[in-house]
Amino acid sequence: QTIGDCFDDTAARFAEREALISRHQGLRYRWRELRAEVDRVARALLAMGVLKGDRVGIWSPNCAEWALTQFATAKIGAVLVNINPSYRTHELDYALKQSGTSTLILQGEFKTSDYVGTLAELAPELKRSRTAAPLRLAGLPDLKRVICLDAQRALPGMLTWQRMLERADEVGAEELADVQASLQFDDPINIQYTSGTTGAPKGATLSHHNILNNGLFVARAMKLSEQDRMVIPVPLYHCFGMVMGNLGCITHGATMIYPEAGFTPESTLQAVAEEKATALYGVPTMFIAELEHPDFADYDLSTLRTGIMAGSICPIEVMRKVIERMHMQDVTICYGMTETSPVSFQTTTDAPLEKRVTTVGTIHPHLEVKLVSPDTGALVPRGETGELCTRGYSVMLGYWNNEAATAQAIDTAGWMHTGDLATMDDEGYVTIVGRIKDMIIRGGENVYPREIEDFLYTHPAISDVQIIGVPCDRYGEEIMAWVKLSEGEQLDEEGLKAFCKGRIAHYKIPRYVKFVDEFPMTVTGKIQKFKMRQQASEELG
Ligand code: ATP
Ligand code: MG
Repeated sequence: QTIGDCFDDTAARFAEREALISRHQGLRYRWRELRAEVDRVARALLAMGVLKGDRVGIWSPNCAEWALTQFATAKIGAVLVNINPSYRTHELDYALKQSGTSTLILQGEFKTSDYVGTLAELAPELKRSRTAAPLRLAGLPDLKRVICLDAQRALPGMLTWQRMLERADEVGAEELADVQASLQFDDPINIQYTSGTTGAPKGATLSHHNILNNGLFVARAMKLSEQDRMVIPVPLYHCFGMVMGNLGCITHGATMIYPEAGFTPESTLQAVAEEKATALYGVPTMFIAELEHPDFADYDLSTLRTGIMAGSICPIEVMRKVIERMHMQDVTICYGMTETSPVSFQTTTDAPLEKRVTTVGTIHPHLEVKLVSPDTGALVPRGETGELCTRGYSVMLGYWNNEAATAQAIDTAGWMHTGDLATMDDEGYVTIVGRIKDMIIRGGENVYPREIEDFLYTHPAISDVQIIGVPCDRYGEEIMAWVKLSEGEQLDEEGLKAFCKGRIAHYKIPRYVKFVDEFPMTVTGKIQKFKMRQQASEELG
């Protein structure tokens, strides 16, 4: 099955149920209405000459048009290129050129991001030329059409979303059905750039088969059904929103609810309460922000049942609070990466509570796992730390136009080398230890930041804490803690060290402590330790 076929089946089965709610836009669609709108976008794209395999970029924070574009491109076999809403000229230029995007759909502006202005810097002709597509842009030779979601901000060289939709009448329903029927389930359908947590993002090429099945298995593990209403505050441009969110919902007929264009704890809590949501997604930092919101107690979250915490290490204390205070007794942890569609491990409610909060669960159906020594490649015994490798349907087709990087990530036997360190117990439960790149080697001793982070989270004054290694002549690396305190709490460096003393090994006690309000973060809410290391090395000289 292709994504378009799955979407149509669900839309037919649950026609009168709610499909998509975009709260900040005041838009609500039933499945029947969503199907009609998706088909209209698909026909308009065909009318403009977008062909199977063409790259269609979307550069926007969360909105209904994001989902319409996702499903419409899937129906005509165009490859959707998810462009990170926080990109600026340099990164946009890279993503557009690297992917060969020929149609770009973009938002006007959002907060400090001026999408139209940024694109115009790369293609000033858009300010002058009139919309006689195809465009000829000196700086972006592949880009033939630009569609602006904000009519007020559209430049003369751009079409507005409304004008694009008007063209749908040029293409009949049969023509669309023929195109859709010609697609194969293993065609590439999506280029997703990785989060850029460890450096420059890489474009993973994914097929219908990769991501549709992953959405299906993720949703199945949560026992999702058409009765479920899922609040999706995570960015759609990332696989968490687009695959685990949107595709998870379309495989089971659950309602997709977008609280806001960008994440805020208020809009998320409000969406849960007002929409009587049953499921909620988030990275750990989002759940922390919700739990700590001053009005947290005023929101009725009693309808919540399940959801997912994923994207980075999920602190045990945060998991416990989510289960107890947010009523998410069935919440699951997922582990995955863009390159594997993304999820390969997920906890299930059947697992004992201890395992559900301390591990990322067991391997997903139809996938294989092994742990190997990052140095020798040899299998490591159970219980020992090794690099996590996975194999199966979810492994990407490759990095877009980057065979060298693909060959480095996926070996000749088809194993995806994740770059993450993990351990596995006798029952197959896997615990993520951290990224190979973040591991600290202090005086020959391997120190895993996560262990210290989990310990420090138990301090009542600490709201969030991140451990990094900083260069040190004597030990090679020293341990540094960046600490964010809870509202109104106090703690100083001495106090923190005193708390550690006698409770964790002396070499794990942070030598340096820095109190901060924020961590350097990707828009997905992932903490960029490489930036913390850079900043710390500069500060420490
Ligand atoms: P880049 O590859 O560009 O540096 P990234 O690896 O953060 O960025 P993603 O593909 O979005 O890009 O994230 C996948 C990574 O996120 C995994 O390799 C892993 O390090 C981390 N991760 C995801 N889920 C979990 C989890 N449940 N526990 C711990 N780490 C996780
Ligand atoms: Mg990665």
